[in-house]
Amino acid sequence: MAGAAILAAVSIAPDLDLLFHSHRGPTHSAGAALLAGLVAWVLTRRSAFAASPLPPSPGLRRTGRRDRRSWAVAVTLAWASHVVLDWLSNDTRLPVGVMAFWPLMRDYHKAGIEMFPAISRRYWLAEFWVYNLKAVAVEVVMLAPIAILVVGINKYRSRGRSFGPGDPRPPSAGAADTGGTSGRRGRRAGR
Ligand SMILES: [Zn+2]
Repeated sequence: MAGAAILAAVSIAPDLDLLFHSHRGPTHSAGAALLAGLVAWVLTRRSAFAASPLPPSPGLRRTGRRDRRSWAVAVTLAWASHVVLDWLSNDTRLPVGVMAFWPLMRDYHKAGIEMFPAISRRYWLAEFWVYNLKAVAVEVVMLAPIAILVVGINKYRSRGRSFGPGDPRPPSAGAADTGGTSGRRGRRAGR
């Protein structure tokens, strides 16, 4: 769960540029997403840090090389998802779009279609809440199926792989039946 919280924080981190009075600039780019993944890669390096500041990677509860790689990929994708969603959303502030290809290009890009309505910042207007609640509802309806799918895949993949200290079954037995219902049944019986 800690992993999911970190990835949620990563996915909103690009908007920290608002603190510097810029919006959808270099932080909203493929370059920044790759940099974020690189930072995760460095942070999970065991030789550099006695204990990794990141918990076991989401989905893959393994340690070592594979864990590092999945953290780097997960952080890159979480950051990039923000860029893609902003690229797809309505933008009422200039310059319109996101600086998608920074540092290679500094021009702003915007999708031809708008999947998400703009968020109103005019909180002094009476329709502020109605308008923004509608915008949030549209986002939830469009993104919930994706979120449910990702959580489902992660649950399926981690099944039979995670073994707590109190679990009587050795990890080797779990590795033998990772696929299908047999692993699930065996895990339940072990509890
Ligand atoms: Zn943004």
